[in-house]
This record gives sequence, structure tokens and C-alpha cells, in this order.
Amino acid sequence: MADIIQLLPDHVANQIAAGEVVQRPASVVKELLENSIDAGAYSIKLIIKDAGKTLIQVIDNGKGMSATDARLSFERHATSKIRSAEDLFSLNTKGFRGEALASIAAIAHVELKTKQDQDELGTVIEIEGSEIKNQEVTVTPTGTSLCVKHLFFNIPARRNFLKSNNVELRHIVDEFHRVALAHPDIEFLMYHNGSESFNLPKSNYRQRVVNIFGNKTNEKLVPVVEETEVLKISGFVGKPEFAKRTRTEQFFFVNNRFIKSPYLNHAINSAFEGLMKDGSHPSYFLNLTVDPKSIDINIHPTKTEIKFDDEHTLYAILRAAVKHSLGQFNIAPVLDFDR
Ligand code: ADP
Ligand code: MG
Repeated sequence: MADIIQLLPDHVANQIAAGEVVQRPASVVKELLENSIDAGAYSIKLIIKDAGKTLIQVIDNGKGMSATDARLSFERHATSKIRSAEDLFSLNTKGFRGEALASIAAIAHVELKTKQDQDELGTVIEIEGSEIKNQEVTVTPTGTSLCVKHLFFNIPARRNFLKSNNVELRHIVDEFHRVALAHPDIEFLMYHNGSESFNLPKSNYRQRVVNIFGNKTNEKLVPVVEETEVLKISGFVGKPEFAKRTRTEQFFFVNNRFIKSPYLNHAINSAFEGLMKDGSHPSYFLNLTVDPKSIDINIHPTKTEIKFDDEHTLYAILRAAVKHSLGQFNIAPVLDFDR
């Protein structure tokens, strides 16, 4: 009898994982922006060329990495964010799988420049398809710059599957919006093909929504505030008469993480019942805060779905809170920027 099972080499395992983590340029954008936030950055710049097909670069002023960590960050399951399985139940970082950089470096040309505040000099590392091409000491500001070129250079099927620049850019902008909305206290800049697409200064939540979706948004925002033992809600819904034909202004954040939840979306729709025309969708920008122990965000690698312990209770609280706000909206202060 012959033994035929082998452990896959790392670069193959990385490429397989990349299939899950990196679907398109926007997935890279999401992972890099989240890493910058986890690094404590308060200013984050996203630079894109050709909808990310030619270049995706994220520059932050976060805490940077040591030379050793810079090298380790590209290993699979290498993370500074959790140490044990218990940590999974009290996550307060975006990342924890230690998969993103290893995956991205398996399917692109990556250049990392990073420096910690206390160090005079930083580190530059170049990796192509999991292979380290260069690592040396360099002059670079405190923080991290990650530059991703030639995405999917070694996976022609993925490259060919990419959509038009318009469509890929749309996906990138969607990710950028989600991250920027979740963190109004961080400055975000975005450039596409050399021109500025977004310049979002540090602000409060209402201002951030308005800076992204335009000044006209301001008058339609109705604050939603609720605090119970299991759920804290803050944010805004759009007045019913401003409901849209598309779902482009529907955002749930749970503990500062964008999530998709058809079930909670239903709670909002039901709060708007009778107030809107059929086929239109209410705008909402809602932050839900729950005990991290009561959710499981580990069910999907891209982490846009989570599992709640007690969905029914959340549904009821959310629906009631939105209904209450809508009942009061004609007396809500429309131009109050301090909320
Ligand atoms: P995860 O975010 O799940 O830990 P990643 O592969 O995204 O996994 O990153 C691996 C590690 O590299 C992180 O845990 C962090 O220590 C480090 N790292 C990545 N990006 C940055 C950054 N912008 N600034 C500082 N450290 C970073
Ligand atoms: Mg990460």
C-alpha cells in the first residue's frame, strides 16, 4: 500500500486561501483599510489606479511594524490580534485570521514599507507570489504603506473574470464608504487615477454621512437613539419621502463592523410600513453595539455576515426604535450638526 497524502506547500495553501479572501480589487481595499484601522491610524489614504487592476495602495499613520513583524505579517495565520481561541469571543479588532496579507502576497506583487515611531529607520519588503524578492532597511515615515500591483498576475482565470473598471471601482467605493462610515473619527482620503475622489476630514457621524452622500442628505436624516441592556442603537434613518429605488444607502454596523443582515433589514422595512411607496427602500445608517460575546463573526472569511445569539430581541428593539424616531421626525432638529 502506498501513502499518497501530502501537506500542501505554503504558497499553494496561500493561493487557495486567497480564493476565499480576495475576490476582486475591492476585497484588497477592505483588508488593507481594516489593517490600518487596527493599527490605530487616524489618517488613511487610499490610492487606486484603473479601478485597482493596476495599483491599490493604502498609506496610514498607524503604529507600524518592526522588521521582524514586517516579515512575519506575510505568513499564514500570523496575527498580532488574537493569541488564543478565547480571544475570539471578545474581539475588538477588524482582523484576527492572519490571512489577508499572506493571501494578497500569494496572488500579486506587494511592496510593504513600515516604520515604528521609536525607530529611526523602517523596513521595505517586496513579495511576488509568496516569494520574497527583497527586504532592506529604508527611510520612511512612521506608519505603513502597502502597495499591491498586478493583482491575480498568476491566476489568469480570476483576472479575466474581473468586471469593467466602472463596476470594479463601484465595489471599491462601496468598501471605502463602509469603512469610512464606521470610523468618522478617522480622516480618509481616496485618489483614483491621480485625482481626488474623497476627502473626508475627521468629524462626527452626521457630518461623515453628509460628506459622503452630499449636502442634500442632511435634511433627510432622522436620528435614531436607543439604549437597552442588550443593544445600543445610534445613527440615522432617512425620512420616508426620501426613500430610494436602490438600496445604496442602507448600512448596518455592528460594533463598528459593516454587516449585511436581511433579517434586520426587514425590521427597518416593517417600521416604515405604510409610509413609503412599494418598491422603494428607506435609507439607514445605523450603528448597533452589542456585547461581543453575544455575536459570532467567524462564520465567513470576509466577515460581512455575523450570527447573533438573540436575533428576535434585536429585531423587536430595532423596529420599535425606528418607529419611535419616525413618529417624532417632524420635530427633529434637521440642521443640528452636533448630534
Ligand atoms: P490580521 O489582520 O487578521 O491579523 P493580516 O494578514 O491582515 O491579518 O495582517 C497580519 C498582521 O500584520 C496583523 O496582525 C498586524 O500585526 C500586521 N499589520 C498588517 N497591516 C498593518 C498595518 N497597516 N500597520 C501595522 N501592522 C499591520
Ligand atoms: Mg487584516
